[in-house]
Amino acid sequence: MFNNDQKQQHSSGLSRRHFLAGSVVATMGAVTGLAKMREQNSKKEALISITYDLEMSRHYPKRDMMEWDFQKGNLDAPTKAYSLKAAEIASEKGGLIHYFCVGRVLEQKNIDWIKSIAKLGHPIGNHTYDHINVLATTPAALQFRFKRAPWLIRDKKISDVIYKNIETTSIAMRDRAGIEPDGFRTPGGFSNGLADRPDIQKMFLDLGFDWVSAKYPSHKRGVPKEEPTPDVYESIVAAQKQAQPFIYPSGLIEIPMSPISDVTAFRSTYWKLEYFLKAVRLAVEWAIETGGVYDFLCHPSCMVVEDPNFETVKLICDLVNDAGDKARIVGLSDIAKRTRERQRKS
Ligand SMILES: [Zn+2]
Repeated sequence: MFNNDQKQQHSSGLSRRHFLAGSVVATMGAVTGLAKMREQNSKKEALISITYDLEMSRHYPKRDMMEWDFQKGNLDAPTKAYSLKAAEIASEKGGLIHYFCVGRVLEQKNIDWIKSIAKLGHPIGNHTYDHINVLATTPAALQFRFKRAPWLIRDKKISDVIYKNIETTSIAMRDRAGIEPDGFRTPGGFSNGLADRPDIQKMFLDLGFDWVSAKYPSHKRGVPKEEPTPDVYESIVAAQKQAQPFIYPSGLIEIPMSPISDVTAFRSTYWKLEYFLKAVRLAVEWAIETGGVYDFLCHPSCMVVEDPNFETVKLICDLVNDAGDKARIVGLSDIAKRTRERQRKS
């Protein structure tokens, strides 16, 4: 464009002064136009996140394996290798994975794999130290570890145990791995998020988090071991509307998990991978069409068994790449940022 202007100036014999003034106006016009276009695009731009919760899952790698309930953060070798490989695949495709780390992961002898993930530029958030239920009001409801070994939290207030369990994770991430925690994901999702617990919202703000991912909206999942019927897929797509980010009255931002999660599909409902890929594709397509948010939730301890060839992460990256400027893969902090900006404008 600038070259054309230059040519025009020479041929029309305009003075240099006029040309400069004209080009400044033209440039300003172009910049304003570009900014407007960007703003319009960002209004419609879908923000897609891929999230991996770094913990072990009951019934994996084999059914009836329950001991992981007591040591969620004691990741096995295949899970760690899968987590790192997924990060490399996402990076190669220009994508990103947002990980959430259970603090006990960092007690293992070798944590090079998680340092490598961070080095690739993938954000890692806090998922509590022992995978505790942050809404628990009794020691037994907190976590299996404390049910079996209640003396660990003897005489302590539940709210203090929850606070410390989260704070200790952030300290461990910084001290052992040199990783600054990027946000918080609650162990377990709640269909109403933290709406009924302003005390817990305040606790997160006190801990320094301005966003959390706690809500998992309810949806149909069909009959276990059977192919999902069309109404199940419809229900999952419809649930995406309930999975859009918002701000609690306390000021804390909520970025819900978008159905369907891997454990709901594979562990609870015994889905085949093809059903899962279809549900994920429909949900991502919904987000791209509406310019919404999609926050994919999975667990490498489950995916290493159910999706050994990383088909889901590849599918999401490809769908977003094919959508051009209509969609972008981001970490959850970028979603929080847009949520805050939109509230400021409205
Ligand atoms: Zn979890």
